[in-house]
Amino acid sequence: MQHSPSLPLPASAAVIERVETFLVDLPTIRPHQLSMATMNGQTLMLVRLYCSDGTVGVGEGTTIGGLAYGAESPEGMKLAIDTYFAPLLVGADANHVPALMARLNKAIKENRFAKCAVETALFDALGHRTGLPVSQLLGGRVRDSLPVAWTLASGDTAKDIDEAERMLALRRHKTFKLKIGRRSVAADVAHVAAIKKALGDRGAVRVDVNMAWSELEAQQGLAGLADAGCELVEQPVASAEAMGRLKGRHPIAVMADESLTGPASAFALARDAAADVFAVKTEQSGGLQAAQQVAAIADAAGIELYGGTMLEGAVGTIASAHVFATFKHLQWGTELFGPLLLTEEILAEPLQYRDFELAVPTATGLGIALDEERVQYFRRDKKRSGMVAAAQPTPQPQIA
Ligand SMILES: [Mg+2]
Repeated sequence: MQHSPSLPLPASAAVIERVETFLVDLPTIRPHQLSMATMNGQTLMLVRLYCSDGTVGVGEGTTIGGLAYGAESPEGMKLAIDTYFAPLLVGADANHVPALMARLNKAIKENRFAKCAVETALFDALGHRTGLPVSQLLGGRVRDSLPVAWTLASGDTAKDIDEAERMLALRRHKTFKLKIGRRSVAADVAHVAAIKKALGDRGAVRVDVNMAWSELEAQQGLAGLADAGCELVEQPVASAEAMGRLKGRHPIAVMADESLTGPASAFALARDAAADVFAVKTEQSGGLQAAQQVAAIADAAGIELYGGTMLEGAVGTIASAHVFATFKHLQWGTELFGPLLLTEEILAEPLQYRDFELAVPTATGLGIALDEERVQYFRRDKKRSGMVAAAQPTPQPQIA
């Protein structure tokens, strides 16, 4: 989509003039224990596209536990965008987002998270240019707010129950996802059962095993979880084939997460009847439009939908919110709580979480504005002086 310098640009055209990337390190409110890592902080890779008409688009690339979750890291995304994406973007017409993404997809294999960050920035800038929110650019929203589940991952049953009670009292969350898979199956099932018993009908309980179980462990685990009143198990095993064998054996929904890496895998999972529910993540899908394609495949196959998170900060979370707002079906709500896990606000106006839901902004683009001073303060490449100890980032996760 690069314009020849000899051809006049159409009046509405905006050329991408500059691509900026940087890392922001933010502390988390508590250690977040997953089967593959314990997170004490989160690193956001932010990308900004500066266009010739004065519009600026922002996007975010974030992962869980550095390289513990997948092949992309915030540092790697920055390198990939600076070195390989930027030359394909600078000079191109910023209005043609699908064509630009096709160009990136042709020249660059994989790098789904980095592509998602760039596509987010393109849509944000296009939204500011056209006066529309990103959800409208994606075809139009069917809901203005999204139910948000909370993850209990302190690793301690009593602490998790206290945390759930606090969230119910605040009317912030009434669906709780427990991260399990680090202990024995019996210990994990007992942990889940104790929490479900304490919450009763006031809170729904789901679990995420993050692939930690063998098929045999999962057979035992699913039986115990279903008995305990747990309504859904997320990626109990790594293998999609094994998930397909486990599905339907017990009265508990089986959800694909790590197995779902974009439209092609969504089609394979649907064809093989390997899951009851898809956890759609915009970054895992490879972008906003790719996530919509995943949802379309699920709808066609009668698979239910859930809006997942890579524990993104505010920018990535709101990009996902705009996408999920366009889904015709969203039977299991979302887990877009990433910003609530961080101690520091980087937006001028915080996101609106109330009555168990996240409001999808209605202003142009993503509908959010960065607090530039705070962003600069937490940039890894900026020398910070006089920082309080509590705000020191801990970018390297402790792998457990
Ligand atoms: Mg998961």
